Amino acid sequence: GVARAGVREVRPARERGKLVQECGRALTEHAEELGRLVALETGKALRTESRVEANVTSDNFTFFGGLGSELKGETVPYNPNMMTTTVRQPMGVVGAIIPWNVPLMLMAMKVAPALVAGNTVVVKSAEEAPLAALRVCQILQDVLPPGVFNILSGFGPDCGGPLVEHPDVRKVSFTGSVETGRIIARKAGEKLIPATLELGGKSPMIVMGDADLDKAVDGAMGGMRFTRQGQSCSASSRIYVHESLHDAFVQKLTDKVNALKMGDPMDEETDIGTIISREQYEKVQGYIEKGEQAGAKAHVCSALPTDPKLGDGLYVRPVVFTDIAADAAPAKEEIFGPVACIFRFSDYESVIEAANDSEFGLAATVWTTDLKTALDATHRLEAGFVQVNQNLVVQPNLSYGGMKSSGVGREATLESMLEHFTEKKTIIFNMA
Ligand code: ADP
Ligand code: MG
Repeated sequence: GVARAGVREVRPARERGKLVQECGRALTEHAEELGRLVALETGKALRTESRVEANVTSDNFTFFGGLGSELKGETVPYNPNMMTTTVRQPMGVVGAIIPWNVPLMLMAMKVAPALVAGNTVVVKSAEEAPLAALRVCQILQDVLPPGVFNILSGFGPDCGGPLVEHPDVRKVSFTGSVETGRIIARKAGEKLIPATLELGGKSPMIVMGDADLDKAVDGAMGGMRFTRQGQSCSASSRIYVHESLHDAFVQKLTDKVNALKMGDPMDEETDIGTIISREQYEKVQGYIEKGEQAGAKAHVCSALPTDPKLGDGLYVRPVVFTDIAADAAPAKEEIFGPVACIFRFSDYESVIEAANDSEFGLAATVWTTDLKTALDATHRLEAGFVQVNQNLVVQPNLSYGGMKSSGVGREATLESMLEHFTEKKTIIFNMA
């Protein structure tokens, strides 16, 4: 029963916004339950990751819910004897396809703005993590009108595929792999509907010789998302450290990663949980082997849990590679696991070149106390999200999305809602 209201039947924008804010409140009330569900189905530790995700999810609804009255049009000085305006209208049914790594937050980043803009949504959840997303949809049925927020659980080709192809779906918003992104973009192209794509990454982090070493090490800890088993599209997985800091950086980073506790995701003491699936586990282990075969030095960190009850868990000890060739597979390809590559550099020009020598362009960070270097690097790094001396994760009101193979379009802001979830219509009144 997907609702396909005509434009005149859509509720006023602020009313929609209030409903979406109401969704935020309902999800806040269920945050603990949702955090636990995410931990159970993804293996992400409750304290460091899953509970945090549940809270950010409701925050997305609250943020976008406040933007209802910003769906403004313009008056255009076309002809003084006429009135020319533009309006922003809903597109219709939005198809949103989401991955398993941060299922609730990534779903909220699509659903909240799409609903505020007046669309209805059909989400296709990831086969590896359908439960928490389904529960969110169930909770929000008490808040939203029937047919407005719908969800499908199923596999990619036979559930996501038909969703993209369905004639009523007028917009697709996808987060996932480059490979699937291309399939979806081809189908959307055939139908002539817009597709927003948030794909992979292999994000560089550049630590200049004048950087604050401890701050940079903390930045690498957060940036690599070690507590999320590295399962992040913006993971700072290529770390370039100036030769004057390289050895100290490696020592401090590996010490910190060693101090992380791997264990039961539901245990409040646990920092790092398990890998999502056997398939992903094997893929990550394969990259670790490829790195070793390529002659890189693997610093294997943290200890596997000793509790025999956890013996079957898909635990991967985080690996920091040093002395790794730039063209070795773990240095080039997205691993989506707890594997970081550290490269030693001496020359600024060549490190910028190396950082940009990637098919991806999602995020980048540079660590320096020199303003001139910071300005130059931020302008030259080919990435949609560039930060100096910090490594924030995606959040409402900060535009997020990638260049090159990392995607098409941006998410998380008012502009992204206007651009990606509305149709602009020009209207001329000639009453002369
Ligand atoms: P990952 O490698 O992280 O599993 P995918 O791109 O395979 O990334 O999956 C992201 C989402 O895309 C999931 O919801 C998945 O089911 C869906 N998906 C996979 N293949 C297709 C497809 N051919 N058409 C539509 N959706 C797909
Ligand atoms: Mg998949």
